[in-house]
Amino acid sequence: MKITFLGTGTSQGVPVIAGKNDGLDLSNPKNWRTRTSACIEIGGKSVLVDAAPELRLQCLKNDIRWVDIFILTHGHSDHIAGMDDLRRFCDIIPGNKLPVYSNEYGLKRVEAMFPYALMGKPVSSGYPCFAASQMPDCLEISENARIMAAPLPHGNMETLGLVFEEGDEKIAYFTDCKRLTPRALELARRANLLVLDFLRPKPHPTHMCVSEALRAAEAVGALKTYFTHTTSQIDYDTWEPQLPKNCHIAYDGLSVDLSELRQNPE
Ligand SMILES: [Zn+2]
Ligand SMILES: [Zn+2]
Repeated sequence: MKITFLGTGTSQGVPVIAGKNDGLDLSNPKNWRTRTSACIEIGGKSVLVDAAPELRLQCLKNDIRWVDIFILTHGHSDHIAGMDDLRRFCDIIPGNKLPVYSNEYGLKRVEAMFPYALMGKPVSSGYPCFAASQMPDCLEISENARIMAAPLPHGNMETLGLVFEEGDEKIAYFTDCKRLTPRALELARRANLLVLDFLRPKPHPTHMCVSEALRAAEAVGALKTYFTHTTSQIDYDTWEPQLPKNCHIAYDGLSVDLSELRQNPE
């Protein structure tokens, strides 16, 4: 399996428009973060998780040429706004209809924002078309690959926590959540790679702050943990040296191949 972090910034993006961005070294490209989305290669399929407003640029920059499955973790704007750009993938896949999975609220938001993509076939050539369904607890990808889902608390809604499993490799992807549930913890245990919400130092009502994320990372005990969905208060070079040795700040364009990770653990 392989994960590419297409975007790693919080809902406003980093740096913030017309903001002070104090303490953020803007000469470091790792501090320029588009909104959070990721691409995971599993069982010979390419799975895109969330569509940031910058999805088009993210796909061009990271040379994403094919998407088999799209998963929307939840219906917030920073994760759904780029879905119209999935039209290009619909255009090139057989049947022109992209499988889209989300939870109930996510699907409601898709219906409200992209009704023209739910007509069963593209309205016209080049239009997006989604085969939208509720994300099951376990989505079989191939004989030895599957994606498991665990709802995570995120304020007045839930986010889909996702655990990708292929053979004995495991990636747990938990963005936009206040805490991990017992099911999420159980699914993520012994993950090779854990991705966690890491908003800012100060507590937030709906996201994990630094101390909460560090505690959750310790509870999961993954080989390696990457923190995502970070605000402009997280300067890469300030925070990276302070983290436990197997924990890191993710950045846009970072790609991790699990087979390489297992050969060179920290
Ligand atoms: Zn978000
Ligand atoms: Zn959110």
